[in-house]
Amino acid sequence: MNSVEAARWYFDQAADHIGLSQNMRKLLLTPEREIKVQISLERDNGDIGTFLGYRVQHDSARGPMKGGLRFHPEVDAEEVVTLAQLMTWKTAVVNIPYGGAKGGVAVSVADLSRRELEALTRKFVDAIHDMIGPDKDIPAPDMGTNAQVMAWFMHQYQKYHGFSPACVTGKPLELHGSEGREEATGRGVVTVTAELLQRLKRNLAGSTVALQGFGNVGSFAARFFHEAGAKVVGVADVQGAVWNPAGLNIPDVLKWSADNRGIAGFPGSEPISNAELLTADVDILVPAALGGVLTAENAAQVRAKVIIEAANNPTRPEADEIFQKREIPVLPDILANAGGVTVSYFEWVQNQQHFKWDLARVRQELDRVMVDSFDRVWNIAREKSVSLRTAAYIIGIGRVGRSTVLGGI
Ligand code: GLU
Repeated sequence: MNSVEAARWYFDQAADHIGLSQNMRKLLLTPEREIKVQISLERDNGDIGTFLGYRVQHDSARGPMKGGLRFHPEVDAEEVVTLAQLMTWKTAVVNIPYGGAKGGVAVSVADLSRRELEALTRKFVDAIHDMIGPDKDIPAPDMGTNAQVMAWFMHQYQKYHGFSPACVTGKPLELHGSEGREEATGRGVVTVTAELLQRLKRNLAGSTVALQGFGNVGSFAARFFHEAGAKVVGVADVQGAVWNPAGLNIPDVLKWSADNRGIAGFPGSEPISNAELLTADVDILVPAALGGVLTAENAAQVRAKVIIEAANNPTRPEADEIFQKREIPVLPDILANAGGVTVSYFEWVQNQQHFKWDLARVRQELDRVMVDSFDRVWNIAREKSVSLRTAAYIIGIGRVGRSTVLGGI
């Protein structure tokens, strides 16, 4: 099953449950617009580099479309369509007034100089600026992009449209960004994990955690797990994974990783493989990197008691079925990692109102959204005897479907 088929499979599980017609399924699954552009730039060595950029605007029934911008070599049209669709359900599950979109450029950021990265970002904006905007489609950081990229994005967009900081979120604090945006996805992950464990009569404090991914999401999740008293015993980044059954000292790992450009070699830990990390004997497994890492091949060996999808689309349907049979709860991406887009929404609201919230307010509002959304998903899963994922899709599809019908087709 490729990623489009996988997304369809998850969608159908919920659509079957609510008896959604085939016509509505087609309407809700078909993206509103798919943009594919050429981005050519002069490389530092004088060569010409040509890259493909994508933006897929999946659905706007509930509001302007929202979703990250990914710079990664594996970006392709199919993946961006899938991720845009996930954003539609995600924004609906947490009930923020947006539809879903996603963008990306197929490029390895590690191979670009800072000047080339800036040029690439600006040229991408040149190609798509007419089709995005604060009331149309609002990009944000994702894999391979960060606050600096968003700053260049905003600056370039404003050359065409004048002052409009709400055209993109995840900006630097000095340039209309929001307090708490950078930490938001990781914080939301830990908030909903704590809720899930409470329902399962387990404690987050003292639970062991294995985390795959130590980028923005993984590193903040590790920090908040550690602060909540959980024992993060294994962490992986792109280069490798480290393991310490007594629990890794996360503040020290963060410092080591910043100083050494990676976690490999962290003192007092053993190196393990990414595959071993995913099947390690832990309470909580958190994939927080690429999609498609939990598969038919490794799902039977997973020993975690719960799986928290901090990454987008980390579990293949074949693996999901195995987890359901084995009664391992999977907290789905469209709920688990929705903290990021939720604080993006707060950033957009602040930009529109020209009024800044402090960190305490951002955190408080985020925690409320995550806890309320979790409650709703948990209750539907119980009432209808379905998985947490199907429950989240039932809520997401239901909200988008109702808005579509109310607006008129
Ligand atoms: N890229 C993040 C996601 O996948 C955040 C999107 C946003 O803030 O718009 O949810």
